[in-house]
Amino acid sequence: MLTSLVEVAERAALRTSPRFAVELLGLIPAPAVEAMRRARFRRSLAIAAARSSFYRDAFHRRGIDVGRISHPSELGDFYTTGEDLRSFGAEAFRVRRADTAFETTGTTSPLPKRVFFSRHEIEDMGRLSALWLHLLGLRRDDRVVSAFDCSFWVSPYVLRSGLDMLGCFHVEAGKIDAAEFYERAKAYAPTAIFGEPSWMVRLAEIAAARGAWPLKFLLAGGENISESARQMVEDAWGAPLYLNYGQTESFGALGAECRIKNGYHRNDLYFLFEVRDADADGYGELVYTTLSDRVMPLIRYRSSDLTRLIDGECACGIRMGRVGKIRGRCDELVVCGMGNVGPWVFAELLRDVPRIGTDWQVAVRHDGRKDAVVLHVEMEDRSHVDATESHVLTNLRDRFADFWNNRQMRLYDLTVAAHPIGSLRGSGRKLRRVVDERQLENRAAVSNDTRPFQTRDRLSGAAHERVAAPEAGDLRR
Ligand SMILES: [Zn+2]
Repeated sequence: MLTSLVEVAERAALRTSPRFAVELLGLIPAPAVEAMRRARFRRSLAIAAARSSFYRDAFHRRGIDVGRISHPSELGDFYTTGEDLRSFGAEAFRVRRADTAFETTGTTSPLPKRVFFSRHEIEDMGRLSALWLHLLGLRRDDRVVSAFDCSFWVSPYVLRSGLDMLGCFHVEAGKIDAAEFYERAKAYAPTAIFGEPSWMVRLAEIAAARGAWPLKFLLAGGENISESARQMVEDAWGAPLYLNYGQTESFGALGAECRIKNGYHRNDLYFLFEVRDADADGYGELVYTTLSDRVMPLIRYRSSDLTRLIDGECACGIRMGRVGKIRGRCDELVVCGMGNVGPWVFAELLRDVPRIGTDWQVAVRHDGRKDAVVLHVEMEDRSHVDATESHVLTNLRDRFADFWNNRQMRLYDLTVAAHPIGSLRGSGRKLRRVVDERQLENRAAVSNDTRPFQTRDRLSGAAHERVAAPEAGDLRR
């Protein structure tokens, strides 16, 4: 009874204007929200078990009686993976009629995952987006130009739905060349710009050279950004760059940054979050369960993103807990002579290193005696590669004592390789940060490699060879 009253209050609040919604939602006591989340979880689980062939079979096989489960953590080692979505197909997860579908490709496979949704879900997510954009300061008289990639990607649809509710002026440019965007968008005098982080960096380079106009903020989604790259974008525009965190599978935002920009405030109304295999600091793989009415409910979906949950009040004053900054993809964690390393380690090694571009990629290989870690960076003048390498090694000594000691013990080599600006990413939307070449070498040895290129030369050769190689899917999402 209490739960249904809270649900009515929540839905009524979300259907008012964003300004009232923020105030009304803040009035619902935390224990009542928690009770509602539990009730929604039980409902989602029951529907999934009854109508999705994937969940019905999986629960039956494991002898799970969903009537006795009141929290995802009671499901033991049961999880849903991206591979399940690929191999069983979207239809095995669908529990209602779908109105639309979007796709996403992973860093480990070029095969897309398909995910179905309803118009009802688009509206719900639009409402939450409108609420968040209102909190960030977007108002009806603002002017938005968006450069999200519209091909099979969910973000432009969620944004459009949110902007329709806010009622602000909106032009959709699509993901076009940043220089062309700059010239054409300027005519509309946008006060907010939306796009992907790496594209934002290119746009900021152009704005720094040709002149910026007043912006309220920039908002990026779809991949991570280093703090140095964020700073560069903010300096160019004199405006904050906020990040949104979501996956196509989650349909829009799992969380979004506030003005403090220290983690993403969680969308606890629509998702239940857990962290799998957390280390001593609480970092592990983010796992989420959908709570809203969904065409494809997901129970304990493994995001592959490495992060932690942060509870307690944020300096911005918003009560909702946060998902911490994403440290990288779980499938990019590499155990090697250097230690257990992931993208955040190399981002930290490259922080404040001058004369390099914002894109980089690390290859870990084995030279017959020990692991060789090669840090591929982009620079205009490749004669600076030695100075860059010595700067990176100084950062290694100053910032990662354990990794430095392992190098002193000659457990691995760390070198820097230089490439032309813009060559590492190729045509992929996302750049895989850490590639374990040793796995590719093993695979090649087992399959008596007949591919038309040499794995070991792949990352040391020209960048376009890498993108044209069969593993090109590894570089993209
Ligand atoms: Zn905050």
